Amino acid sequence: MSLRFVAEATDGPARTGRIETPRGSFPTPCFMPVGTRGSVRALSSADLEELGAPVVLATTYHLMLRPGPEVVAALGGLHRFSGWSGHMLTDSGGFQVMSLGARVEEEGAHFRSVYDGSRHLLTPEAAVRVQEQLGADIQMALDVCPALPAPASEVRGAAERTLRWAERARTAHTREDQALFGIVQGGTDESLRAWSGRRTAELGFAGFGIGGLSVGEPREETLAALEAALGQLPAHRPRYLMGVGDPVGMVEAVARGVDLFDCVAPTRLARHGRLLTSRGPLSLRQAAFATDPRPIDPSCACAVCVRWSRAYLRHLLSVGEPAALRLLTWHNLAWTLGLVSRIREAVAAGRLGELRQEVAGAWARGPGELASEPGS
Ligand SMILES: [Zn+2]
Repeated sequence: MSLRFVAEATDGPARTGRIETPRGSFPTPCFMPVGTRGSVRALSSADLEELGAPVVLATTYHLMLRPGPEVVAALGGLHRFSGWSGHMLTDSGGFQVMSLGARVEEEGAHFRSVYDGSRHLLTPEAAVRVQEQLGADIQMALDVCPALPAPASEVRGAAERTLRWAERARTAHTREDQALFGIVQGGTDESLRAWSGRRTAELGFAGFGIGGLSVGEPREETLAALEAALGQLPAHRPRYLMGVGDPVGMVEAVARGVDLFDCVAPTRLARHGRLLTSRGPLSLRQAAFATDPRPIDPSCACAVCVRWSRAYLRHLLSVGEPAALRLLTWHNLAWTLGLVSRIREAVAAGRLGELRQEVAGAWARGPGELASEPGS
C-alpha cells in the first residue's frame, strides 16, 4: 500500500504519529481545512502553507462539475492546478450528491448538477475514476449516508450498500500512488457500526473513514457509535472522522483513537463573524466589540491576533469589506490547527485528559457569555 501510518506515542486509545505517502509525511492527529471549489474560501494555497495546514480536503462534487476532472487532469492534477505542495484528500462526492436529493439505486446515485440541472450518475467506479483524475494523495470510496434520524431498516440498508460499494471501489482503484479509504456507516446503531467497521476492515483499505456521524444527533450517541466502529478497525491504519472539527468533538474523538478530521465549520463560522477562542466562542457582531482594542483571542499567536483589534475586525465585517472574511477565516483556521497541535503534544506527553477538561470547560459556556464581558 502507498500509505503508512506510524504511531509514535499513545495515551490510552489516543495516538499521535505520522502518515507517510509517496509525497512525504504529515503528523497526526490532523485537521484538514475544506476547499469546496478548489480553494478554501477567502484564502489561497500560499496562505494555507503559511498557516501550516498539512492536508487540504478538496470536494469532488464541485470539481467534477466545474471545471471537470478532465480539465484538472490535463493541467497536471489538483496539486499543480491549485498550486498546492502539501497533501490533499478528495471526498467521493457522495455526501453532497445525497444531501442535494439524489435518487440512490444499487448501481449508483442519480443527481442533477446544481450549476445547470444536467443529469449525472455517480457510481462507486465513477467516483474512483474521477478522484484518480483529480489526483489527490488520498481518495474516499463512495458511501451511502442517510439523513438521521432514519428508520432502522434504512440505516441498515445504507450500511450494507456502502459495503458492497466499497468492494466495487476497491476493484476499480488503479493508481498505486494514491491511497483509497473505505467508509464505515451504520448511523447511531452501535451493533451496526461494529458490523460495518469489521466488514470494511476485512475488505482491506489504506485507511478508514467513519461517516454519517455528527449530523444532529446527541454527542453521546455520536461517541458511542464512533467507539463501536473504532473497536473493529486495525490499529496500524489511520481513522478519519468525517465532517467533525469542533473543539470538543475533536478532543473527544482523539481520546477514542481518531487520527484525521475535516470540517467546514471553522471557515463557515468565520465568514459570519463567529470566532473560536481559548475561552470559547466569540460573536464579533456583538455591539460590545465596537470599541474593544483587544485581539480576537489574547492567547492566540496568529498573524491576525498579533496585529488587529476586535474593534477593527468588527468594523470590516460590519461594512462588508472582503478583507474581513479573509482575516477571520485566517484566525479560525490558525486557532483550529493550533488546537490540533496541542492535542498532538498532549497525547505525546500522556496529558490528553487535562486538555479534554480545559476544552470542555471553555466550550460548555453559551456563545453569548464571552461577549457579555468585554472588560475581562
Ligand atoms: Zn488568532
